[in-house]
Amino acid sequence: MVHSVVFFLAVCVGAVTFASGSEAASAGTETIRVAVARGMEQIRVGGYGVVATDGRGARIAVSFPAVVKREKSGISIGGAPARSIRLHSPGVLQINGKGYRGTIEVAPTTRGLLVIDEILLEEYLIGLINCEISSQWPLEAVKAQAVVARTFALYQKEARKNSLYHLESTVSDQVYEGCDIEDGRAVRAVEETRGEVLTYGGKIIQAFFHSSCGGHTEDAENVWSIRYPYLRGVACTYCASSPSIIWEQTISKRKLETMLRSGGVPVFKLRSIRPVSRNTSGRITSLEILSEAGVSTIPAIQFRKIAGYGVIRSTDFEVSTVDDDFVFIGVGFGHGVGLCQWGAKQRAEDGFSYRDILSYYYPGTRLEKYYAD
Ligand SMILES: [Zn+2]
Repeated sequence: MVHSVVFFLAVCVGAVTFASGSEAASAGTETIRVAVARGMEQIRVGGYGVVATDGRGARIAVSFPAVVKREKSGISIGGAPARSIRLHSPGVLQINGKGYRGTIEVAPTTRGLLVIDEILLEEYLIGLINCEISSQWPLEAVKAQAVVARTFALYQKEARKNSLYHLESTVSDQVYEGCDIEDGRAVRAVEETRGEVLTYGGKIIQAFFHSSCGGHTEDAENVWSIRYPYLRGVACTYCASSPSIIWEQTISKRKLETMLRSGGVPVFKLRSIRPVSRNTSGRITSLEILSEAGVSTIPAIQFRKIAGYGVIRSTDFEVSTVDDDFVFIGVGFGHGVGLCQWGAKQRAEDGFSYRDILSYYYPGTRLEKYYAD
């Protein structure tokens, strides 16, 4: 799932031209850099035939498994100091017991270690499938997810080409937990769509997606104030069978008050929360928060971020007060922009192809081969 990305939208609008990629890359060489862990003081690394090198490419003599630690100046591996470390394996590398393909880089930051996996894009996609959906869904839905994730990754690669990495491995971008959950159906969906991406006007699109829209997908401009012709809301009754279509969340007044205050909203003795406006898709745009500190009006998107994306699952909800609690009852899961994953599942079960599904959720786009092959 792709969540709030306001910051990156501001710097990467319409950046990727289709032609440059098709000339330069092939499925066997296109790589992506994914931040697979951040903030830890130490990690345990291992795997078959692992070789460690330092930032200059010199081999570090160490036996595996080994512990990489952040030190006062730089890092160490198996007690040997280094400024940064690259780990290579002919097979799968293990990081804290999880398997990863490709090359792993570990670098120190002011907030712990930064672990980056540089991996072939097509291999990354195979691992991603079972993090985002289930490969046991109808194959056309899995193929749609593969195309969307490839498109999203390539867009971010270009937009963040001057950064240390291109993608987070969380809901901020796309969830990725390594290669342990790869399976044959994920491989098939990726291979059958090899190199395929969505374009609009000859450029790779910013292919946002979410879990379930709750009845109508959302215009991008309603979420991030940026207009995309291919990210227009469409009717979607297809996700009605999603288990997360209706959600309920109870939060005590005291807890919510603490959350709001730490999110920068001036609140004292919280009394009520009230939706004050909704957009045409039914999602709340702003909320009024009444406390003894006065009235604050905040965007519903900000409220969801403060409460947690997994707590307030969408901005389409009703709120009531029961004793000392607020009870939220809502529909849908995610921001609602672009492909609705549970809707895509139902469309595939109804016999639609992945091409049909993609052209429905991203109107006006074309499916094209990005790789030479
Ligand atoms: Zn939907």
